[in-house]
Amino acid sequence: MKTTVISLTEDTIRFIVSGINNAFANTLRRTMVAEVPIMTIEDIFYFDNSSLVADEVLANRLGLTPLTTDLDKYVLPEDCDCNAELGCPNCRAVLTMDIKADEDIITVYSGDLVPDDPDTAPASTTIPLAKLAPKQAIKFEAYAQLGQGKTHIKWSPVSMCVYQNVSLVPVEDKAKVEECIMDCGDAAEMVGDKVKVIDIQKFESCKRCRELIPRDAIMGNLVPDEFLFTVESNGALTPKRIVTEAVKILKKRLGELTDKIDADDLHSPISDFDFTRPEERKLYSDGSEDSDEEEVGTTGDTE
Ligand SMILES: [Zn+2]
Repeated sequence: MKTTVISLTEDTIRFIVSGINNAFANTLRRTMVAEVPIMTIEDIFYFDNSSLVADEVLANRLGLTPLTTDLDKYVLPEDCDCNAELGCPNCRAVLTMDIKADEDIITVYSGDLVPDDPDTAPASTTIPLAKLAPKQAIKFEAYAQLGQGKTHIKWSPVSMCVYQNVSLVPVEDKAKVEECIMDCGDAAEMVGDKVKVIDIQKFESCKRCRELIPRDAIMGNLVPDEFLFTVESNGALTPKRIVTEAVKILKKRLGELTDKIDADDLHSPISDFDFTRPEERKLYSDGSEDSDEEEVGTTGDTE
């Protein structure tokens, strides 16, 4: 396996991994999306909310506000030995808000959140959360905790995480192609008598390149074991940290699997498997247990 970083900015990393198959590439992608933990607001105690935005809606917006995360400082609540419902300083950070509109209408932004821990602060301070008319106010205390994207997407560290095959296309007029891709940055490079299209979208955004190497040629020469990853952070972690954490998690998982194989412990019985019969399932509950209007799967007469 070989890894080459193509570009790295404050929020995005692009890198090539060769010598892996599609399944492994997707495993790495899914680990970044759903397993790398970040801090996000989970519990909120309102003391005042006279804005037009309902408590639940405001809570949803706050939950989806990315917070910078120091992974070395906090542990996942399930791994913490405090066992407290609202956590302890090892597994949660506190953010507060106390804002009131005086004479003018004001907009409340993510930057109005006051973090107790400066390392757990809004990644962007300009996300609008609500508007306050004169005399309206919002006051609350919020608890952020580590979590994973597989529980709720608000805990996913990426706003984009994709991969695509690179393409190795044989060319006839090498000099002409070489001259063109020189101007196209890191979208392609020459490898012997072939042009290696690293970033297909970026390559095709150049009209001259597109005419020299048509799309059919690119798609017909995809390299099956070489992928370009594009990972964009939502601001909670650096893009580099997202990738390294995902690799760490994968390594740990594979270590656990190796231990199980060595101990011949691969056939543990399925437990805690509770099958819900379809007719008992409800689309949603309005809280009244005896209403059966929302039941799904009933086959009763409709008269
Ligand atoms: Zn704790």
